[in-house]
Amino acid sequence: MPTAEFMCLDGEIVRYQDARIHAFAGVVKYGCGVFEGIRGYWSERERELFVFRLPEHLERMRFGMRLMRYAEIYPANYLADCVLRMLRANELRENVHIRVIAYLGGDDELAQTGPVGLIAGALPRGSPKGVTTGIHVRVGSWARLADNALPPRVKCTGNYVNNRAAEIEARQDGYDGVIMLTATGKVSEGSGACLFLARNGSLHTPDLASDILESITRDTLIEIAPATIGSAVTQRTIDRSELYAADEVFWCGSGQEIMPILSVDRIPIGDGRIGPLTRALQERYFAIVRGADAERRAWLTPVWTDR
Ligand code: PMP
Repeated sequence: MPTAEFMCLDGEIVRYQDARIHAFAGVVKYGCGVFEGIRGYWSERERELFVFRLPEHLERMRFGMRLMRYAEIYPANYLADCVLRMLRANELRENVHIRVIAYLGGDDELAQTGPVGLIAGALPRGSPKGVTTGIHVRVGSWARLADNALPPRVKCTGNYVNNRAAEIEARQDGYDGVIMLTATGKVSEGSGACLFLARNGSLHTPDLASDILESITRDTLIEIAPATIGSAVTQRTIDRSELYAADEVFWCGSGQEIMPILSVDRIPIGDGRIGPLTRALQERYFAIVRGADAERRAWLTPVWTDR
């Protein structure tokens, strides 16, 4: 994977190959890491790299650290400083995917709460192909983690063993991705994205009690939908069979952006092509993240100006 040359490890800028932690660290033994995937978009017009909704990502990370009972919860400005220093060290002037992990270090037993460390890195990365082509997914046979076992609203590394199982099953069966259902069989989310469907001109998405991550892209779409497609998003419980009845389905996430889903379980969605509401939201979203939407500049953190 082509990664940027420098990372930030525990506040220090180090070369990629030197970003090492101990083999017995709590993150390795117990899956105790809280992570974020964030995108930065390069604007050629402004010669600026904009990080999309950085404070919101870092606040979610701090919430995760609290729920994981970390002995140290990093202040938001320390987290932001590590990310921005890492980006500047790499002189990145292209679209990037930023990865941040607040990890449990040490070599102690199960109930250890520290020491805590921080890793930030980035890789140059454009939009995934599926954003323009659309994808074909299946409903996974593994149930989504339940909130009373391992809360999916905490973006903790250990949780992703669940997502990985579902993703591998789908990939090995020839699909591009997976939609997970809750333990009670309701629609939850993708392995790394939140789900939306359109029926009769309005948008619906599983509510926050459907064992989903509280996605920042989902929140973005809920915010911009009324002015973009002329109707608000309904957050509610969604049955599996409603997926097949939908006119449009897509999922969204920082990494996946807005990705049209053309079939579920080989059943075409609508006419099997990217629908008008999905396209309208994609257009607005990409204008916003690239800094071309004056109304939503507050969502962007510039890397090079205002230093
Ligand atoms: N659900 C899951 C399980 C995810 O891993 C992600 C990616 N972080 C999302 C949804 C989308 O979240 P966000 O929009 O905040 O990137």
